[in-house]
Amino acid sequence: MNQFTTKVLLWYSMMYGCFKTLPNKEKKALERWETFNGCTSDWPGWEKYIGKRPAPPPCVKIKTAFVSSHLKLLIFKRDGYKCVWCSSAVDLVPDHIVPSSRGGPTTIDNLRTLCAKCNNSKGRRLDSEMKKGGARELEGR
Ligand SMILES: [Zn+2]
Repeated sequence: MNQFTTKVLLWYSMMYGCFKTLPNKEKKALERWETFNGCTSDWPGWEKYIGKRPAPPPCVKIKTAFVSSHLKLLIFKRDGYKCVWCSSAVDLVPDHIVPSSRGGPTTIDNLRTLCAKCNNSKGRRLDSEMKKGGARELEGR
């Protein structure tokens, strides 16, 4: 993980924490902004709470596909705010079913809720490459 990735991940985790404490008025403003601009996490309002999202240094390509706060919430809500593998409700993260490193899109159909623990044990493997758990999901496609 390079310095930039670390910085961005930190920013995203701040954004995530910040979202929970946003006054309703600001949440509405964020929602409106995302409706018009797409879910890019670049809402100007973040600036006054947590600063601007770190800009990538020139010629560094971002490989990790980031999931916007809005999309995250949609996925968490759909999955009942728990890990789809172990049902834990702690440290939830959005997970690409087909990893973005393998060309999986950042769409609601290719995302699901995992806890950090399950997500770490998964890494970049596909479900069908896992020894246990979750393999059913990809069968029959
Ligand atoms: Zn889990």
